[in-house]
Amino acid sequence: MNIHEYQAKQLLKEFGAPVSDGRVVLKAEDAKTAAGELDGPLWVVKAQIHAGGRGKGHFVEPEAGEKGGVRLTKSVSEAAEEAQKMLGRTLVTHQTGPAGKQVNRVYIEDGSGIETELYLALLVDRASSRISFVASTEGGMDIEEVAANTPEKIVSFSVDPASGLSAFHGRRVAFALGLEGKQVKQCVQLIANLYRLFTEKDMEMLEINPLIVTDSGDLKCLDAKMGFDDNALYRHADILALRDETEEDPKELEASKYDLNYITLDGEIGCMVNGAGLAMATMDIIKLYGSEPANFLDVGGGATKEKVTEAFKIITSDPNVKGILVNIFGGIMRCDVIAEGVVAAVKEVGLKVPLVVRLEGTNVEKGKEIINTSGLDVIAADNLADAAEKIVKAVKGA
Ligand code: GDP
Ligand code: MN
Repeated sequence: MNIHEYQAKQLLKEFGAPVSDGRVVLKAEDAKTAAGELDGPLWVVKAQIHAGGRGKGHFVEPEAGEKGGVRLTKSVSEAAEEAQKMLGRTLVTHQTGPAGKQVNRVYIEDGSGIETELYLALLVDRASSRISFVASTEGGMDIEEVAANTPEKIVSFSVDPASGLSAFHGRRVAFALGLEGKQVKQCVQLIANLYRLFTEKDMEMLEINPLIVTDSGDLKCLDAKMGFDDNALYRHADILALRDETEEDPKELEASKYDLNYITLDGEIGCMVNGAGLAMATMDIIKLYGSEPANFLDVGGGATKEKVTEAFKIITSDPNVKGILVNIFGGIMRCDVIAEGVVAAVKEVGLKVPLVVRLEGTNVEKGKEIINTSGLDVIAADNLADAAEKIVKAVKGA
């Protein structure tokens, strides 16, 4: 789960990391009061969406003005004006996709004078099974670009969980960032605070880009992105309360209500599969036959007819889906339950695209009979390769 910048900054503040004072605004009429509570002389107005690259982004509606999603203003009234222009409008960045994201919240912050922009991140490094620090002097830009063009400018190391964090790690980051004087001490303190925050809240990712040296020579977190481990959210009610469902993919949100492992992708073949491994293999083989999957979906072992029906409805609700492949190798999952779910869903929402069904395993005969007697226009397939070939052919031929 991800949270907004303003929420992340509140957490940073609680854990003793330096951030500017700011106010979140949800309604245009509250913008002036919010800006008036800050000192100035610089007010930064920042669109709050779960995507980066806001500064370099642009709005779809001309009423939002020419500027991107991070605006520097010089008075309370100017700040309020810019906030009002952004609220309700659609911001497109390189991370939102061409459709962009609606801005439902803006954050008005005390502006900082910037000496240098640096990069700092903590993440779970799956290769070493440890928490890693990533630091670079090239802050404020896309770190993927830095990694591709000047990888030598990125310093990364992990922390041994047995010995834990020590001041040494903080000094290592300070050295990598070229800090000096009082900044080194501030960096050691910051690293300790961030590590404590990261581990206490079961984070997956914490990115400060940019971490700045202010014009008075102090460190400050100017931007903040946080991602949390979904499997640990049950023990963090405070973090769960920060969830903003309007930022999530509506199909994935719907799927999560039914406890389905569903992820939206940008291809054209909708997939309903049981088992994560088979689902991965199905996506691979769709690519092999020249198309792209529209989603990952593992309906799981003990899925009910209702769950299968919901899953099928979610797949058909995606306008990108030009064909559907149901691929079931029934073990714990019974083929007849899948068949009943598919038939029930099609009866409810109809079927406007080709459907290929491959059933194998437990109760396969019963499953096939349900499909065959349903009157549905289904293309039957015998194995995984056959199924992939048939659905790709049906879609490309249409
Ligand atoms: P992002 O574009 O979504 O990553 O948003 P950021 O919060 O990182 O802001 C983008 C850029 O705006 C930063 O890299 C800074 O150059 C600039 N910026 C943001 N806040 C301030 C501020 O308080 N003062 C100044 N001078 N520039 C800022
Ligand atoms: Mn940023």
